Amino acid sequence: MKTRRDFLQHLTTAALALPIASVYGLENPLPPVEVPYQGPVLRVALLGLGSYATRVAEAMKACTKAKLVGAISGTPSKLKDWQRKYNIPEKNCYNYENFDAIKNNPDIDAVYIITPNALHKPQCLRVAQAGKHVITEKPMAINVTEAQQMVDACKQANVKLLVGYRMHFEAKTLEVIRMRKAGDFGKVLFFQGLSGFIIGDPTQWRLNPALSGGGAMMDIGIYSVNGARYMIGEEPVWVTAQETKTDPVKFKAGIDETIQFQFGFPSGAVASCLSTYSLNNLDKFFLDGTKGFAELQPSTGYGPIEGRTHKGVLKYPHVTHQTTQMDEMADILLNNRQPEVPVDGEEGLKDMKLIDAIYAAVKSGQRVELKG
Ligand code: NDP
Repeated sequence: MKTRRDFLQHLTTAALALPIASVYGLENPLPPVEVPYQGPVLRVALLGLGSYATRVAEAMKACTKAKLVGAISGTPSKLKDWQRKYNIPEKNCYNYENFDAIKNNPDIDAVYIITPNALHKPQCLRVAQAGKHVITEKPMAINVTEAQQMVDACKQANVKLLVGYRMHFEAKTLEVIRMRKAGDFGKVLFFQGLSGFIIGDPTQWRLNPALSGGGAMMDIGIYSVNGARYMIGEEPVWVTAQETKTDPVKFKAGIDETIQFQFGFPSGAVASCLSTYSLNNLDKFFLDGTKGFAELQPSTGYGPIEGRTHKGVLKYPHVTHQTTQMDEMADILLNNRQPEVPVDGEEGLKDMKLIDAIYAAVKSGQRVELKG
């Protein structure tokens, strides 16, 4: 979506470029002059300073509309490091006991929750209560009941809730969605999503059901759940799923190792997906229609995402996903921008409903019917 600022920026660039182009020759004009961003900036505190939070913090150095200004951690030494590394003032640092006081801090607009999955809900409720916008990592919660409580709490507190769906801003992904909407693939009838990696350290929280809420499905399978929806552009009406476990010691009760699942959509399209903690080389989306296809591989890793369609290779420059995500989220939170693919709590809720249905289908062995 073009803003007035984008338009003015374009105008400035064009006005500067024209006379130069006429002097230097049209085929070899000087690069356009960048006009620095001067609009409002989203001031963000990260909650939970683990490995993904570090990736986000590094990526945010290149943001123009979002700025890392605060940190919340249970590890005092990390707070010290982060203050130094990211120039975070002491007054914007909190721990898990005292972060409700963020309510009285006018220098923080939003808190980005990047902790183990089971902590997202209680932490979201506290952030909402403190009157700050919430960004939470995926999965937004460990089941649909919790996810609904988060949506309700944010609504009640009059703050916005977003989920860290970075792929919803990725250029090649968005191009496939644009082509599908334009009818380039004809009638879309099939999606395949493959999401997996070999998980290491058996003592990590991802393999502890009390903190993870589930296994590969919560962690990586969710990319195929979410991807099936945005690639096909419909909401599933039925779910079937089958689980396989080869290592019941590492993958104890409550931790799914491998699940195959299938979705049926109102148009008649079907999705066939695999989620696993036991295989690498599984990061692929394939969409097929009566007139053409799209393939993304890798499809959801940190990038570069690679893709092609029946029309050829998708060519867009790679931009660090979390940089784009945080700039776009700033626009959503500060300027009410509506993204092409939603990233709000309702969107996260739809994935949680499907994950609950997948687990129910595994348990019962039956097809689960969904109401729209
Ligand atoms: P890490 O284990 O690397 O970090 C989690 C951090 O949470 C810890 O470092 C710790 O930070 C804090 N924490 C608070 N309580 C606990 C606890 N009981 N056990 C462990 N850690 C705790 O995990 P990740 O950063 O990989 O994952 C965090 C979240 O981000 C998950 O929900 C995950 O699904 C999501 N994620 C999303 C990705 C994406 O691409 N969108 C990629 C990777 C992860 P501190 O010491 O500061 O308190």
